[in-house]
Amino acid sequence: DAFIAQVAKAKSLNAFLVETPDHAIAAADAADAARAKGDTLAPLAGVPIGMKDLFCTKGVQAAAASHILEDFKPPYESTVSQRLWDAGAGMLGKLNMDQFAMGSSNETSAFGNVVSPWRREGGGNAPLTPGGSSGGSSAAIAARLCPAATGTDTGGSIRQPAAFTGITGIKPTYGRCSRWGVIAFASSLDQAGAMARDVTDCAILLEAMAGFDPKDATSLDAPVPKWEAGLNADLSGKRVGIPKEYRSDGMSPEIEALWQQGIDWAKDAGAEIVEVSLPHTKYALPAYYIIAPAEASSNLARYDGVRYGQRELPDGAGLQDMYAATRAAGFGDEVKRRIMIGTYVLSAGFYDAYYTQAQKVRTLIARDFENAWIECDLLLTPTAPSAAFGLGETTDPLSMYLNDVFTVPSSLAGLPAMSVPGGLDKQGLPLGLQIIGKAMDEQSVLNAGLALE
Ligand code: GLN
Repeated sequence: DAFIAQVAKAKSLNAFLVETPDHAIAAADAADAARAKGDTLAPLAGVPIGMKDLFCTKGVQAAAASHILEDFKPPYESTVSQRLWDAGAGMLGKLNMDQFAMGSSNETSAFGNVVSPWRREGGGNAPLTPGGSSGGSSAAIAARLCPAATGTDTGGSIRQPAAFTGITGIKPTYGRCSRWGVIAFASSLDQAGAMARDVTDCAILLEAMAGFDPKDATSLDAPVPKWEAGLNADLSGKRVGIPKEYRSDGMSPEIEALWQQGIDWAKDAGAEIVEVSLPHTKYALPAYYIIAPAEASSNLARYDGVRYGQRELPDGAGLQDMYAATRAAGFGDEVKRRIMIGTYVLSAGFYDAYYTQAQKVRTLIARDFENAWIECDLLLTPTAPSAAFGLGETTDPLSMYLNDVFTVPSSLAGLPAMSVPGGLDKQGLPLGLQIIGKAMDEQSVLNAGLALE
């Protein structure tokens, strides 16, 4: 009841696209009934959570915050959401996001941007971005509208919004959480994960979400470890790598200080700090912004106005006109930009120069991490190059893409990575520290997060 009341009170944040209080109440009632009967409670019994709008939820709109899927009510449930309901959780509603998860500020949503509950000290009421694309999730948790939420991360969409709002978010190893029923953006990168107020809550949520799913061909066929039970903030014997290439020219002194703070905390927790090199880091962002749009252009071809979603049918239009009118009206500008870039880099004349080349770079980036693991067990970096910026402040796409500079390399390599709060900047805004781990080693990532939070 308290969370439902909070959601109703905080409408100005625009965090929820759809509210489903009955779903949350049913889960709470089921938990009460189980408790009354003396049954063992499921791990998330009665816990009300927010679902990013990218997840298909049976009978409840899943629009990926796009007009082209407005009113689309999936006839089935995503594997991740089903697992959460099976673990006893209930849904408070569907959370706003960047359209098709493309963006870093939530400003590409077709239903208006989310507003962060944070304000700059002395900055009046100037609204700030909650980050993106999982900005509805981050804002809702930071504003205490829900204790936890799902997110998805293709190139940073869990970690950067977590950093911008002072919460915690983990993207597990690629394949840990099923992509079945998660509206696709870039399939070789998309990964669901957990967002919550602290590391322990993230561990609990992720444990419920993860697991092998035969319905997703890239699902990892491996048991889910007991991450919560394994939590341990003692980092003795762990080598934490500091990748020197992340110390980019022009890194702000505040971000440098944040990083140093993280290094000191890791040392205090018993870790050994080592400098490592990831030499291909500077090619990660360009490679990502070729591969992700290429896959998006292919995935988004299905929105043709024929099978589901919106249809625009101008008078006397033929099939081609219907496709064009539907896509022109249904997709937002950033989505169209990605489709155009994607089809360009995949076109016959440019495929080798762009797409094949980017895939080769991706292999080199993955190899950089493999080499780093000879010298360290974890990597520690800032999550984002700045604190949250003002809504409407970043208007050109390239500056927006630069937000992802620290999060994209581990996405290309499919590695688990998380953001934990690292303190406040001079304006009183939260900054995040990123921990990157070896494939399948979410436990070490969570443990380091626990030591730093
Ligand atoms: N900001 C990045 C992009 O727009 C990452 C988005 C994401 O992780 N979904 O592609």
